Amino acid sequence: MQSLITELRNFLPAKAILTEAGDKAPFETDWRKLFANPAVCVVLPESVDQVAAVVRACAGAGVAVVPQGGNTGLVAGGVPVAGPPQVVVNLNRMNKILAIDILGDTISVEAGVTLLEVQEAAAAAGRLFPLSLGAEGTARIGGVISTNAGGIQVLSYGSMRAQVLGLEMVLADGRIWDGMRSLRKDNTGIDLKQIFIGAEGTLGIVTAAVLRLWPAVQARATALVGVASLEAALAVFSALRAAAGAGLTMCEFISSPSMALAVAHIPGGRLPFAAAAYLLVEISAHAEDAQVDEALLKTLETALADGTATDAVVAQSGRERADLLRIREAIPEGELIEGGAVKHDIAVPVEKIPETVRAVEAMVGEKYPEFRLNIFGHVGDGNLHVNVRPPAGMTLKDIASEKSAITEAVEKIAVQRGGSFSAEHGIGQMRIVGMAAHKSAVELDLMRAVKAALDPMGVFSPGKVLP
Ligand SMILES: Cc1cc2nc3c(=O)[nH]c(=O)nc-3n(C[C@H](O)[C@H](O)[C@H](O)COP(=O)(O)OP(=O)(O)OC[C@H]3O[C@@H](n4cnc5c(N)ncnc54)[C@H](O)[C@@H]3O)c2cc1C
Repeated sequence: MQSLITELRNFLPAKAILTEAGDKAPFETDWRKLFANPAVCVVLPESVDQVAAVVRACAGAGVAVVPQGGNTGLVAGGVPVAGPPQVVVNLNRMNKILAIDILGDTISVEAGVTLLEVQEAAAAAGRLFPLSLGAEGTARIGGVISTNAGGIQVLSYGSMRAQVLGLEMVLADGRIWDGMRSLRKDNTGIDLKQIFIGAEGTLGIVTAAVLRLWPAVQARATALVGVASLEAALAVFSALRAAAGAGLTMCEFISSPSMALAVAHIPGGRLPFAAAAYLLVEISAHAEDAQVDEALLKTLETALADGTATDAVVAQSGRERADLLRIREAIPEGELIEGGAVKHDIAVPVEKIPETVRAVEAMVGEKYPEFRLNIFGHVGDGNLHVNVRPPAGMTLKDIASEKSAITEAVEKIAVQRGGSFSAEHGIGQMRIVGMAAHKSAVELDLMRAVKAALDPMGVFSPGKVLP
């Protein structure tokens, strides 16, 4: 390994190669601190040529490469696995915004720019970059592309895949593919960028991207709605969608235990009102004179009259909107403070949300009666975060022996209903058992064929995604 490090020093400055245990540790440990395996070294390149040279050197030495961005991924895809020698290639120093094209509505960035920086650059140019998620201040565009991340506005704007127009990639043989096109139409053979989006760094390294921009939001109306039941939640969602169309930019589901957990961890927080469950909804418009308040209020009035909604509070100011959005953020924060959870990120067809939630409640009630559920998610995407919390006073460590059985049961409930066992977080090393259990032999064969074609020596991220 010393000879590889010596070779890396030929083209990387000393400060870009971390070899000391203490320096490497934050890059070797995943966000949730559940996985930590040693890397030969961590490198922080500053150019695409340096990334390509690192890949060539590692491939030549028979050492695997683990691409990494902000290391906020929730399935341990961006940190080493146990076993083979691996170098972590962290892209955070490739952090330049390359260009903004106002006429073409695009932004070109290096892979290490944070999601928040892209949103801010878009806003400064009078545009919107709509992808938004809790880790946006730390997550990097390369990571967001490689996980095909979702978040709270997928309902209206699509996931990261829908935002990517062009990519620059470093391939397994060290070649650079310049696919930095900003075209909205380009039917010239296989759309190669789609193969790399969501591949979690197993097929190549994203070094830059051209992203789509949207018109800025000029008006928005936000509300927290109490609903009578899970079916009522879908009825209110459907009514809002009928009223606002693609203008319904957010429809988050918060179960009542999740609401209680959130408010308990917001300083001065209190339950806004009691309800069977809650929706956090927002209607947005790109035209200043759009009647977003009217659309929201009319729909809520009807829902309150027909009993699907039981209560509602509409934000009257930016401050009140921020307070409502804070509730959503406080759910995972509160969960972590109270000992964590066995987390799941499932998706089911929207109409199956009620029966899925009930099946999970029944399974946990029967097999793990002392455990607590924290279920929230993105209603319009059918995406539920089904988090099973340890009994009061216990931590995740105390229930370690139950974790895989709980996960198997939750994943099965989703898959049996035509759903996915990983909606937006990906597979990484954490969900790989699910791949073997739930993907068909044909799907796995096709994925293995793509991997073999693009990375025949297995340079990128061994032990991830494919069982
Ligand atoms: C508080 C919190 C909230 C979150 N909310 C959401 C949410 O709402 N929706 C959602 O979808 N996700 C969410 N996530 C998960 C996470 O933020 C996303 O997966 C994000 O896209 C990861 O970006 P990153 O730069 O941190 O990637 P990393 O964690 O560094 O890496 C993630 C994966 O991408 C690969 N990768 C990273 N950079 C590159 C690159 N340049 N080229 C090739 N492969 C690369 C890694 O190998 C790894 O497999 C959340 C995470 C946290 C901590």
